[in-house]
Amino acid sequence: MRVGGPAREFAVARTSDELVSLVRDADASGTPVLLVGGGSNLVVSDEGFDGLVVKVETSGVRVDGDSMWVAAGERWDSVVARSLDDGLAGLEALSGIPGLAGATPVQNVGAYGTVTSDVLESLTVYDRETRETSVWGPERCGFGLHRQSVFKHSTRYVILDTTMRLRRSGASDPVRYAGLADRLAVTIGDTVPAKDVREAVLDLRGQKGMVLDAEDHDTWSVGSFFLNPVLPEIPESASRAPQYPDPSGIKIHAAWLIQNAGFAHGYGTEFGNGTVALSTKHVLAITNRGGATTADVMALASHIRDGVEAEFGITLVPECDLVGCSLA
Ligand SMILES: Cc1cc2nc3c(=O)[nH]c(=O)nc-3n(C[C@H](O)[C@H](O)[C@H](O)COP(=O)(O)OP(=O)(O)OC[C@H]3O[C@@H](n4cnc5c(N)ncnc54)[C@H](O)[C@@H]3O)c2cc1C
Repeated sequence: MRVGGPAREFAVARTSDELVSLVRDADASGTPVLLVGGGSNLVVSDEGFDGLVVKVETSGVRVDGDSMWVAAGERWDSVVARSLDDGLAGLEALSGIPGLAGATPVQNVGAYGTVTSDVLESLTVYDRETRETSVWGPERCGFGLHRQSVFKHSTRYVILDTTMRLRRSGASDPVRYAGLADRLAVTIGDTVPAKDVREAVLDLRGQKGMVLDAEDHDTWSVGSFFLNPVLPEIPESASRAPQYPDPSGIKIHAAWLIQNAGFAHGYGTEFGNGTVALSTKHVLAITNRGGATTADVMALASHIRDGVEAEFGITLVPECDLVGCSLA
C-alpha cells in the first residue's frame, strides 16, 4: 500500500541459511522480527516497526517431473509463468497474484477456484519456538478455505521453500469459477489450454485493479482488505446477497455488503484529504491515491466496517496483516 513508517533495523536474506540465522540471532537477543516478502498483504503503522525487518530474497526454482520446488523469495507470478512454460498445469488460475512464493501458504492464497493447498506437496519450515527446521506435509498447515493456516497472524514459523505437485499437461484444471468460464466462453468443469486460463485471469484481474501497476493507484492496495464473511445463517437484512454453501456455514461477498451499505467505487476521499479511497474498480480494495498515511487507511477501513455493521449487523474482519495498527 506504500504506507507505514521506518524499520529500526533492516536486513536482506539471500539464502535460506541467512534467513534462519538472521531470525535466530534476533530471537536470541530479544529483537522483534517482521518478515517481509513482497509486502503486498501488509499494513504497517506510521510509527514503523521497532525491531528487525527481514526482507526475504532467497532464490531458486527446480522442476523434477511434475514436482516444482521453489525458494520462498521467488516472485509468485514468475513461478506461475515458469510452470506453464515448463508444461506443468495447476497454477494457471493463481496468475497475477502479487507477492512471493514463501507467503502463498500463509493465507492459503487463492483465486478463481484454486487455492495453494490444492497443489502444495510439502514445505520447509523454521520453527522459532523449537529452533528447528523441518519438512512439513500440507496436513500440518491448518489450511482452511478462508485465507486460513497456522501461519496466518502468527510469527512463529518461517517458510523457507515450498514444493508443489502439478500436472504435466498443457490443459488447464477444470474451470471452477463462473466469471472465468464466461470470459473463456466455456462451461464450468471444462478444460482449455492452461495458458489461455492465465491470459483470461490476468485480463479479469487487470479490470479489477488486482494486478500490480505502479501507474494505477487502484492497485496501491493489499488486494481485498476484508475477508468474505462465513456465517451460520444470513441475517434478514442481507438475505438479498448471493449466498454460497461452505463447509463452515454460508459465505457472502464482503464486496456485496460494502456496496449495498452505500459505499460505491471511489468512495472515501474525505478520510485523508484525497489520499485514500475505495478502488474505482473494486469496492473491496482500499487504495492509496498518493501520500496516504496508515492512519488514513485505518480511518476509512473502520468507517466501512462500521457502515456495513450498521446496515447488516455483520462485522467485517481485515484479511490483510496489520502490524502495529488496528481499526478504531
Ligand atoms: C493487488 C493485489 C491483489 C491481490 N490478490 C489476491 C488474491 O487474488 N488472492 C489472495 O489470496 N491474495 C491476494 N492478495 C494478497 C497478497 O498478494 C497475498 O497475500 C500474497 O501471498 C502476499 O505475499 P507477499 O510476499 O507480498 O507477503 P507479505 O505482504 O510480505 O507478507 C504477508 C504475511 O506473510 C508473512 N510472510 C511473508 N513471507 C513469509 C515467509 N517466507 N515465511 C513466513 N511468513 C512469511 C509476513 O510476515 C506477513 O505476515 C492481493 C494483494 C494485492 C496488493
